[in-house]
Amino acid sequence: MTKPFNAFAMAQAQFDRVADLLELSESPRALLRNPLREYHFSIPVRMDDSSVRVFSGFRVQHNDARGPSKGGIRFHPQETVDTVRALAMWMTWKCSLLDLPLGGGKGGVICDPHELSLGEQERLCRGWVRQLARNVGPLSDVPAPDVMTNAQHMLWMLDEYETIFGGHYPGFITGKPVGMGGSLGRKEATGFGVVFTVREALKQLKIRPDDTTASIQGFGNVAQHAIQLYEQLGGKVTCVSCWDQRDGCSHSYRKKDGVALEELRGITDRFGGIDKTKAADLGYEQLGGDAWLTQEVDILIPAALENQINADNASSVSKSVKIIAEGANGPTTPDANDQLVERGVLIIPDFLANAGGVTCSYFEQVQSNMNYYWTRDEVLGKLDRTVTAAYLDVSEMASRRELSLRDAASVIAVSRVATACSERGWV
Ligand code: NAD
Repeated sequence: MTKPFNAFAMAQAQFDRVADLLELSESPRALLRNPLREYHFSIPVRMDDSSVRVFSGFRVQHNDARGPSKGGIRFHPQETVDTVRALAMWMTWKCSLLDLPLGGGKGGVICDPHELSLGEQERLCRGWVRQLARNVGPLSDVPAPDVMTNAQHMLWMLDEYETIFGGHYPGFITGKPVGMGGSLGRKEATGFGVVFTVREALKQLKIRPDDTTASIQGFGNVAQHAIQLYEQLGGKVTCVSCWDQRDGCSHSYRKKDGVALEELRGITDRFGGIDKTKAADLGYEQLGGDAWLTQEVDILIPAALENQINADNASSVSKSVKIIAEGANGPTTPDANDQLVERGVLIIPDFLANAGGVTCSYFEQVQSNMNYYWTRDEVLGKLDRTVTAAYLDVSEMASRRELSLRDAASVIAVSRVATACSERGWV
């Protein structure tokens, strides 16, 4: 029988590999392999029919040697504490890689929000905060939205926290609506961050963006903003793909002279699904769901799901592809990664390429703590400087130690946290 996938076992195996590369001694290894703190709790919620249902909630603080823990809260029926542990550990590395003064955390509730009324969701959010109010906060642990949680959930959670402590603490949580403590630039941040890293990679390869073409998986938040900035730099996107809810499969849409972003946005629903008939009317060729991967382009940006470039299809990536920028989390499996790196493709790993999102969440936290909000240009300017600096750190380490960008990024991220733990005298 095959063992069920366990995200925490995978995160620990990845950590062990980096710890070996860094020749970390026994005590920092033991500390960083596991979370510093975990909270497991029950949340009683009064349902609309006046019965009480008890939900299981978690918060894991993996490591906070570099600053308050940061990470989302997921609502998911299949949530497990091991998934939350893995995600918390990955947040520690991502914040460290971007050199943000933050640690890593993650939270969750086992529930299916589709089955809960808005009132029940509000009481669940408030209940989560009531159980944890003493263990989270602007100076200790700052939650954010994640799978199936949104700005409204964050605002209910903030309101409960402020009710308990009797003041305004907008820095307690991020992902709030703009005008209620949210940051301008957050919606663009992840997609723009992807393209900041692509721009730097092209500079190093001495290729002008206007001489390049790209193909993208996904047409949601990350993909649309990545296309916007890439086109501003002069690049041409020739193919995008998305999930078609009605057909129950994905399709790719191609226009060899370049897709028109605004035109496509106009025929796309809020889940990032493009209307097939309208796309045909506008002259897009409709191809199979995997066709985005096999296009003869310079750049591939997987910006939809995990596990999309794998051992079965990696060999169909065109020889023309020079860069793969991972907008999604975990889109390339380790064996496909090795195959493509061997072929000389530069893979910009997810926790660098898509870190614009957490960087902007950090900016939201800073603005909220000051209660003073920046313009969109200020936010995006700071975002560019932070993501670009991280990219340059990683590529310098990669060439100095002859590592892939992924390994170099892991080495930087883990060593910064290990150093912080040691300088604090923990290990
Ligand atoms: P989204 O829901 O806005 O868009 C997802 C897109 O992927 C949609 O266009 C959908 O049609 C498409 N898609 C789904 N299944 C597909 C399939 N099988 N084939 C092709 N396309 C498919 O999501 P998003 O916010 O753009 O996030 C995309 C990825 O980026 C996710 O992996 C997410 O975890 C990651 N990410 C997002 C952020 C962020 O700030 N939004 C930050 C970091 C990482």
